[in-house]
Amino acid sequence: MQKQYDAVIIGSGFGGSVSALRLAETGKSVLVLERGKNYLSGEFPRDPKILANTLWRYPDISCDQGLFDLRFFSDMGVLTASGVGGGSLIYSNINIKPDKDLFSRIKWPSSLSLAALEPFYQRVESELSLQVMPEGLDLKASKVMHRAGNEVGASIITPEFSVDWDNCKKCGECGQGCNYDAKQSMDKTYLKKAQEKGAIIRSGAWVYVIEPTFSGYYIHFRDLTKNGQKVQVKARVVVLAAGALGTNELLLRNRDIYDTLPAVSATLGKGFSANGDFIGSIQNCSSSMEAWRGANVAAVLGFSGKNAFTVAAQGGKQSSMEVVAAMGQMTGKILQFFGPVVWRNLSSILPWMMAKGALSQPVPITLPGAGPADRCISLFASGQDNANGIITLKSSGIDIAWDFARENLKLIENMVLKMTELATVMQGTFSPLASWNMAKRPITVNPLGGCAMSDNPDSGVVSPYGEVYGHAKLFISDGSIIPGALGVHPAMTISALAEHNAEEIINSI
Ligand SMILES: Cc1cc2nc3c(=O)[nH]c(=O)nc-3n(C[C@H](O)[C@H](O)[C@H](O)COP(=O)(O)OP(=O)(O)OC[C@H]3O[C@@H](n4cnc5c(N)ncnc54)[C@H](O)[C@@H]3O)c2cc1C
Ligand code: SF4
Repeated sequence: MQKQYDAVIIGSGFGGSVSALRLAETGKSVLVLERGKNYLSGEFPRDPKILANTLWRYPDISCDQGLFDLRFFSDMGVLTASGVGGGSLIYSNINIKPDKDLFSRIKWPSSLSLAALEPFYQRVESELSLQVMPEGLDLKASKVMHRAGNEVGASIITPEFSVDWDNCKKCGECGQGCNYDAKQSMDKTYLKKAQEKGAIIRSGAWVYVIEPTFSGYYIHFRDLTKNGQKVQVKARVVVLAAGALGTNELLLRNRDIYDTLPAVSATLGKGFSANGDFIGSIQNCSSSMEAWRGANVAAVLGFSGKNAFTVAAQGGKQSSMEVVAAMGQMTGKILQFFGPVVWRNLSSILPWMMAKGALSQPVPITLPGAGPADRCISLFASGQDNANGIITLKSSGIDIAWDFARENLKLIENMVLKMTELATVMQGTFSPLASWNMAKRPITVNPLGGCAMSDNPDSGVVSPYGEVYGHAKLFISDGSIIPGALGVHPAMTISALAEHNAEEIINSI
């Protein structure tokens, strides 16, 4: 393998893939290092019992190098993906640009505005061939949700999907990776083009050290395809794109343990946001929705005003929805009594349950709130939380500290109120996720921040173009640089920012 590159990109999600294409098309030598596997159509795992394929738990459990990285920290849970294409492999395909109002509530660097980013959003739209859901799809769940949204005064948002609708089987399996070549994930779009322009993509490459040298950086990684063998490459420029968790962890370790990046700002790890994520479900509604039809998202509703939020009504694979519907909507004092203990041990309880088949088929007993799968839909709400989470490094790895429930009480109360109103007009019941009812801790699929963009190193980790203050030619292009909660799905903004940063990265080589 070649040992020296113009640019090494760490991580292949939205930010990494955009950076790879833009650098490769200028003729630079580019290496993308991705810890996860390369999945071809048909290879995405479907049996949750096989933990080695389902969960990413490397290096703690070295054989578990699967698709889903689900972690339970002290104060919240976070779900991300591991694989060539990153979060785009399991995301729900919807791309939404925040409106001016939401965008302006975040403290961006002075040069950044929605208008300044507009050309970059357009590039993303074009590269991903984004399209709205075809009119003829005629989904029952969309109709029911839109009717309910209108009744409670919500606006109907029409998201753009990164789906090749002609090839799409409308099977709702998008959250587990598309086995039918219809999802326009980053590996099928930006990364594919980057490869055609000469970029090299290495899967199973888990990076742990970034070390400056006089003409660039050494990047140390473990080759997971060769029993974790240590490998070192050199780059003139490094782009960190390991996602909000991965990038924060790498920088914290390299600043505080390996001492290779000592000048990284003291603000590192601060300002973490869950994008106001609050997950729940509506069950037992009076109309059949069959939310397993379509491409995951049936409807997106917007609630404006104080404590504004967006909610995506989502289905999934039919068999998965049958499992969810049978779990019901557990609330109550017993759950709360055991909640804190269960939360602390969820990282081992959940995999144990999965291995025993608890997520493979519906529970054989009737639980409170359980009902038919066709009358059930999941609600993923996102709003503007106060982005006050702190990522720290402990002996066991990173942790997140944040009294999310107390500090974002008004936002959560508003979300619960409006989602309950939706359920009521649908003659069903709303309940937050059991983990919330149990321990008042959220689970987010949209981790952001910790390495905020800023006009100076006293208030952030990177410059307005993503260059790490104190370490020239080390850039970040992923969700970690977003300095607050967007309140809408973040992938399109992460990609647009990566497009924006790429121009400066190219100039720096
Ligand atoms: C189930 C689900 C549904 C979602 N749906 C939507 C949606 O519809 N619309 C939307 O806008 N957003 C959605 N999101 C959120 C979206 O996926 C994320 O915001 C996005 O993926 C973040 O992009 P990123 O570039 O910051 O990082 P990621 O996409 O997370 O990519 C980071 C990559 O870095 C790799 N990596 C990490 N550490 C290392 C290391 N040490 N060495 C090498 N590689 C490493 C990871 O394996 C990963 O591939 C969803 C998320 C989930 C989990
Ligand atoms: S619904 Fe999703 S998983 Fe199924 S074919 Fe379409 S894009 Fe792929």
